[in-house]
Amino acid sequence: MKLTMNARKAADRTLRSLPGPSKAAAPDVDLLVVGGGPTGLATALHAVRHGLTVAVAEPRPSPVDKACGEGVMPGGVRALRALGVEPPGQAFAGIRYVRDRHRAEAVFRAGPGLGVRRTDLQAALAKAAENAGVPLLPVKVTGVTQDAHGVTAAGPDLRARWLVAADGLRSPIRRALGLDVPVPGPARYGLRRHFEVADVPDFVEVHWGSRAEAYVTPLAPDLVCVALLTAERAPYATQLAGFADLSAWLADARPVSTVRGAGPLRRSARRRVCGRVLLAGDAAGYVDALTGEGVALALAGAEALAGCLARERPDEYEAEWRRLTRSYRRLTTGLLAARRSALLARGIVPAAAWFPGLFAAAVDGVSHG
Ligand SMILES: Cc1cc2nc3c(=O)[nH]c(=O)nc-3n(C[C@H](O)[C@H](O)[C@H](O)COP(=O)(O)OP(=O)(O)OC[C@H]3O[C@@H](n4cnc5c(N)ncnc54)[C@H](O)[C@@H]3O)c2cc1C
Repeated sequence: MKLTMNARKAADRTLRSLPGPSKAAAPDVDLLVVGGGPTGLATALHAVRHGLTVAVAEPRPSPVDKACGEGVMPGGVRALRALGVEPPGQAFAGIRYVRDRHRAEAVFRAGPGLGVRRTDLQAALAKAAENAGVPLLPVKVTGVTQDAHGVTAAGPDLRARWLVAADGLRSPIRRALGLDVPVPGPARYGLRRHFEVADVPDFVEVHWGSRAEAYVTPLAPDLVCVALLTAERAPYATQLAGFADLSAWLADARPVSTVRGAGPLRRSARRRVCGRVLLAGDAAGYVDALTGEGVALALAGAEALAGCLARERPDEYEAEWRRLTRSYRRLTTGLLAARRSALLARGIVPAAAWFPGLFAAAVDGVSHG
């Protein structure tokens, strides 16, 4: 309750401090979404369903690629389906943790997740947006000014009643609005590459190494994505060599993509509502890719955000975002803390195997069922 009130007061204060109507007072659209990733496109689709007029600015041609582990949790699969978006992919039953001879696995109670190539996911969402009549503007937003009645975005030179910054981890808009918060701890990075293999696991496998984690996500009967998460800045091949069993399994596999990276992963925002500009998806704040929840959370957040705008209650979004991301933030922060201690890190997989009920509950928590 206290957070809700604080968030509302902050949003109201920002709105009151804005200048009066600018020369271009009439908005071109109700909502301009900056960024055509999963968050931006899902926000646009939900907003259109609420009857808002929407445009999306995304300078990169579709399908847009991005470093990702490419495992969509069950709640994310359902959220996509509810939007009429069904990209091709490979179902997985749950999560398996692996460390040396230790194994722990838990099946999602909420139904399977879906391994889906990032480009397929973005293309399917972009197609749905196009079918819904959302203009995808091939432009970069280079600046944002706002007054009491609307927001003007330089680049597309569009005026909107509201602007959603879904511009990713680095979020130029978050930075420009002074909402970036320095984050503690060593910076972590993600790298991914695709491999053609003889057969694929029916779980997302998380291999815990001494300095990194390796994620294996099935994407097709003969294709996996192998994502590495680490605080060390070393080439992909060097990091992968640290996982002896995984390297042996991939020895005859054919790499079918180049290495793509992202990071630092951890990002924090002072708040998510700044006048008529709202931060969504990774731009709103991100802890780590350890639990593979980014896309499911992005989709849930997009739905909540569009609902707030449709009700003309943008101030309610801060509390909604905090509620939706609370367990992700707690679990991921806790896992990262354990990861930093050599002793605790060695115990994560054995503990998951010794306490299968606890592990299953944690996995159900991240499934967003
Ligand atoms: C290594 C790694 C592994 C991951 N694994 C998983 C996983 O297995 N499962 C999962 O669910 N999540 C995973 N995630 C997280 C997931 O990838 C993100 O949470 C998700 O992509 C967030 O989507 P987004 O739309 O918010 O941001 P993005 O996908 O980054 O999209 C932002 C878009 O904004 C555009 N943009 C930027 N600046 C501007 C501008 N000025 N004007 C216009 N457009 C702009 C960019 O071109 C981009 O297309 C992983 C992340 C990493 C880094």
